[in-house]
Amino acid sequence: MVVEACRVLYRLGLVDYMGHPSVRLPGDLMLIKPRHSLDISRPDRITPDQLAVIDLDGTLVEGEHEPPGERFIHTAIYRARPDVHAIVHTHQPMATVMGIAGEPILPVLHVQSELVRTPVPVWPCAKLVTDERLGDQLAEALGQHRVCHLRGHGIVSVARELPEAVVNAIHLEQLAEANWKVRAIRGRPRVIPDDEIDQRAAAGSSWEVRWRYYSQITEGANP
Ligand SMILES: [Zn+2]
Repeated sequence: MVVEACRVLYRLGLVDYMGHPSVRLPGDLMLIKPRHSLDISRPDRITPDQLAVIDLDGTLVEGEHEPPGERFIHTAIYRARPDVHAIVHTHQPMATVMGIAGEPILPVLHVQSELVRTPVPVWPCAKLVTDERLGDQLAEALGQHRVCHLRGHGIVSVARELPEAVVNAIHLEQLAEANWKVRAIRGRPRVIPDDEIDQRAAAGSSWEVRWRYYSQITEGANP
């Protein structure tokens, strides 16, 4: 699943060689995309045997490749949020721009708006998350939310299942792009009210269905 998530995120333009998904494993461990290197470059070409197993201190437990330098995003959130079993960190461009600008990503698209019904929290720091202290700060900023801005850096998306975290990252990017385009034409975005979001959400597809779609459209050879 981590390999599939790497491919989807890369082919949809949410990550380049940076960014990383992970899933929680039993025994206070996680499976995570390895750090980019001369051997690990394109995320859509990563194979299962290249993934890294690390503990919640960030120490490599299994695998031939180093975990990402920003593994402390994952260790801190898994420690702080027992309900979270999957994490995606990206530098996805549109959501990151909105975070830089300090502009809210408003609920303006009917399918995706449920994700931003409450404002996306912001961690106002562009440092690499390379130690536990910074990871804990980010986890605190995330709180009980599903997504968080890392201002001047990217976003994090958390969920019980990895496909859900990926779909939410995709939805956040689509919302950010819509918000940006409305502002670009000097429009006044209509914020979709709760009752309309509720009605659409009740009639909508599950994240499983949406994940299947995004997985299928990113399959196959890609030069
Ligand atoms: Zn990063």
